[in-house]
Amino acid sequence: MSETTTKHLSFFESVNRNFDMAAAHTNIPKGLLDQIKICNAVYEMAFPVKIGDEYQVIEAFRVQHSHHRLPTKGGIRFSHLVNRDEVMALAALMSYKCALVDVPFGGAKGGVKISPRKYTEQELEKITRRYTTELIRKNFIGPGLDVPAPDYGTGSREMAWILDTYQVFNHGEIDAAACVTGKPENQNGINGRTEATGRGVFYGIRQFLSYNDDCKALGMSPGIAGKTMVIQGLGNVGSYSGTISQDEGDALIVGVSEIEGTIYCQKGIDMAKLLKYRKDNGSILGFPGSTTLPERTDWVAIDCDILVPAALENQITTENAGKIKARIIAEAANGPVTSEAADILRKKGVVILPDMYLNAGGVTVSYFEWLKNLSHMRFGRMEKRYQQNSLTNLVSTFERLTGHSVGMKERDILTHGADEIDLVRSGLEDTMVNAYDQIREVYKQKSSIEDLRTAAFIVALDKISGDYVRLGIFP
Ligand code: NAD
Repeated sequence: MSETTTKHLSFFESVNRNFDMAAAHTNIPKGLLDQIKICNAVYEMAFPVKIGDEYQVIEAFRVQHSHHRLPTKGGIRFSHLVNRDEVMALAALMSYKCALVDVPFGGAKGGVKISPRKYTEQELEKITRRYTTELIRKNFIGPGLDVPAPDYGTGSREMAWILDTYQVFNHGEIDAAACVTGKPENQNGINGRTEATGRGVFYGIRQFLSYNDDCKALGMSPGIAGKTMVIQGLGNVGSYSGTISQDEGDALIVGVSEIEGTIYCQKGIDMAKLLKYRKDNGSILGFPGSTTLPERTDWVAIDCDILVPAALENQITTENAGKIKARIIAEAANGPVTSEAADILRKKGVVILPDMYLNAGGVTVSYFEWLKNLSHMRFGRMEKRYQQNSLTNLVSTFERLTGHSVGMKERDILTHGADEIDLVRSGLEDTMVNAYDQIREVYKQKSSIEDLRTAAFIVALDKISGDYVRLGIFP
């Protein structure tokens, strides 16, 4: 074995390498590029929490990458792997993601270095509330300052604790509910936030596959129907990406990987049944009709059309990129393919749908939730009945003029006024379609643009630099 060890880029260095590749295609002055790239504020904290009879010192972070728009926005991660570099990389990605999908926020991210599985619900509540108190003390949370959301290891439950803690310290603040998004629907949340990232992943893959020429170049037929998919990570993002791609896109899920191992089934794995099986048995292994692959990491080498890494960063590296047989990698997670691995994949002709675009559905619907909280009214409240009455009149007129009457079921469909969930899905779909088309247009402009990620960065940098110029900071 060779004595020499290759030094790999850290996650933040990998994001910055991608940034630099895109910056080289722009005319943005170096000083402005430096300002965009740097993390504006890094808050590294440690606080004691009493667990059982002992005090534990918990390490945590909140990073605000860019203040070109306020509030800053980004999820909170609970994981024993959390570190400063990771949170900085994730915060930077949030700035580029928000710019790309026209969500008017700066980027931020939070991380608490704990393994949530090792704590009871009460202990997690204590840790979350204490972390929130630290954020309040340093002005790192607030509807107009910095607005957290769920990420790896957290969900609506933690967001409800954050809101409650914030309200205790900000009694009477009328917009307090907008201090955090991803809240439970009955606690100032929005319909459709839980599924939003996975649904956005589906819309993004579908939009890529809607272009005949691009599919042909990959040796594929257009459309998502019948395409084989492998998913890594059955958490929030992975489970909804798989379920919606299967139910609404007719994709065939042939492989799934989780902490306990990887399963494969050529005929397809029913996502709803698999999720129930894992809930009942605590594992995906042994799912009827599936084969367990020898190693958990074998998911990368499964022969399929689309690989969907939906767990963590640095999963596809220079070590395993050569094994990939898929033609598309759909980055549902943040940073699953390292910048250096992407070089290898590009040479192999593999298309990467980049994280900053593909998983932007979460922050898009978080933006809708924030707007809902600030307007103090659910979407659809004003117009639903009006639409329903207009459509009913239209159908009745049609029936009178033609002498034909539509059945009750058709009438219900035709006269349905938009509910909150309809509007949220419509806004999300529109966002994902428009953002992909902007990336594609830039990518097609110059053959020297390396890939869709570089094109996505170019679109984001153009918008962020425009904001700085408008602010008068870089005239
Ligand atoms: P989650 O905690 O709900 O789920 C992650 C799942 O991945 C867990 O079930 C975990 O067991 C599994 N996992 C971890 N390591 C694994 C491994 N080595 N092999 C196989 N499975 C593994 O987290 P999530 O919210 O779904 O986030 C997943 C990714 O998506 C993260 O990169 C996150 O930053 C990104 N993301 C999340 C959101 C969101 O709205 N939650 C939005 C945008 C991006």
